[in-house]
Amino acid sequence: MTKYIFVTGGVVSSLGKGITASAIGQLLKSRGLKVFMQKFDPYINVDPGTMSPLQHGEVFVTDDGAETDLDLGHYERFIDENLNRHSSITTGKIYQSVLKRERRGDYLGATVQVIPHITDQIKKKLIDVARHTTPDIVITEIGGTVGDIESLPFLEAIRQARRDFGLHNTLYIHNTLVPYLKAANEIKTKPTQHSVKELMSLGIHPDMIVLRSEKKIDQSVKEKIAMFCDVANDAVFESVDVEVLYEVITEMYKQKIDLRILEHFQMESKKEADVKPWFELIDRIKHLEGSVNIALVGKYVKLHDAYLSISESLKHAGYFHKKHINIKWIDAEKVDQSNIKDVLKDCQGILVPGGFGSRATEGKLAAITYAREHNIPFFGICYGMQLAVVEYARNVLNIKDANSTEIDPDTKEPIISLQRGRLSDEDLGGTLRLGLYTCEIKKDSKAYKAYGKNMIEERHRHRYEFNNKYLEAFETSKMMISGFNSKHHLVEMIELKEHKWFVATQFHPEFLSRPLRPHPLFRDFIEATIKHN
Ligand code: GLN
Repeated sequence: MTKYIFVTGGVVSSLGKGITASAIGQLLKSRGLKVFMQKFDPYINVDPGTMSPLQHGEVFVTDDGAETDLDLGHYERFIDENLNRHSSITTGKIYQSVLKRERRGDYLGATVQVIPHITDQIKKKLIDVARHTTPDIVITEIGGTVGDIESLPFLEAIRQARRDFGLHNTLYIHNTLVPYLKAANEIKTKPTQHSVKELMSLGIHPDMIVLRSEKKIDQSVKEKIAMFCDVANDAVFESVDVEVLYEVITEMYKQKIDLRILEHFQMESKKEADVKPWFELIDRIKHLEGSVNIALVGKYVKLHDAYLSISESLKHAGYFHKKHINIKWIDAEKVDQSNIKDVLKDCQGILVPGGFGSRATEGKLAAITYAREHNIPFFGICYGMQLAVVEYARNVLNIKDANSTEIDPDTKEPIISLQRGRLSDEDLGGTLRLGLYTCEIKKDSKAYKAYGKNMIEERHRHRYEFNNKYLEAFETSKMMISGFNSKHHLVEMIELKEHKWFVATQFHPEFLSRPLRPHPLFRDFIEATIKHN
């Protein structure tokens, strides 16, 4: 029987309960258990695919092509497991399937209601995740804060889960904030008491409480909370602000939260928790020497979360090379040929990430020209690759009208365009290419040097593709098509032969980088920027 951990949050949002949940996941995994993670998101969108990156942050893509919340990126980076579409459930998805069944007549004339139909559909997602991935433990984070109207059906479903699955197969962990009042020099427990009361009024009695705090929390305070919130004295944990994100893992380890969880589940640990690599990583991060400046030239730079996996991947590569990465966030709308030199002069590397639409593309093109002409390490991702191809076609191959049909639908030279029917017989216009695709890498390339093999798989999220009508023009040039999918005849990677490091990918390598295992392309990009220093 799969065991379920339900993680809720109270008092305020942005408590980092996803981080706590993932840290617990990593600890349990390091004890030899198979851990899987899931997020229940109360919003009504079916998925974040259509939400503005400026509001919602990046869209994280799984192997099987689900467009999900950025929290899944944290989960994958912490527990080092590839998640899938069962990991990301929204109110929109739940209602979509219930309404589909209602239209089909599956409910046989019954009045369709939140309880039991919506809650049953939510519980089905708990069972699905166990059936499809057969984990020992599933950790399900409930988005939002207890007390929100939107999350009520999810909370009701997890309440019922204890009745359905049993006491020792379910565990509720509630995360709350304990604010520190400077004037009183005191840590306040009342908001936590209220939040737990609220949770209990919904029928959920937390088994454990994790307290987020700026300051260390005395045992006496924990005992007070244990008493008022009716949990065991040894079931109150603290999550104090840390310097390095991954210290959440080692701090949870020191408090033995994993052992307490196994005790509740009446499970044996398969082995001692192996947290040594995390202690080493934290130590490494605290002793970085020197730094490199990386320009990230994008359209959504006002919200750094819009590029979360990219900035994390850059950091992973920095840890590997023991260097700080200073990201210079450059709004592509504010740069052009006239000021690009000033803006980029102190950068050792330039990265143009993914994006959509025609706005801000001129600024990105200017940055690409600058990187190419000045031999500055360049990394293009998705739209970054498409624009690198357009830039090269215009300025080197002399195809002056070269463009992407995303920018100019009537361009005479559609170097990047929709490749209808290439993935299957159906008309693919308007559909994104999502999830894992294989790519063959040319032997004499920087890409091959990075990966050390010629077949790879990477995750995609884009609509437009390199137009193969121009393949020959490129193949006889100094821009190499270094990665290709021969099943669907799609260009996946390009690079410049006579350049320090100018590599661009149609896929999103940032979704596969992990703190203990930096992605090879990010690793080599940062190496090139260090040498360029
Ligand atoms: N807008 C481009 C496309 O749809 C690139 C997408 C991206 O960068 N993720 O193909």
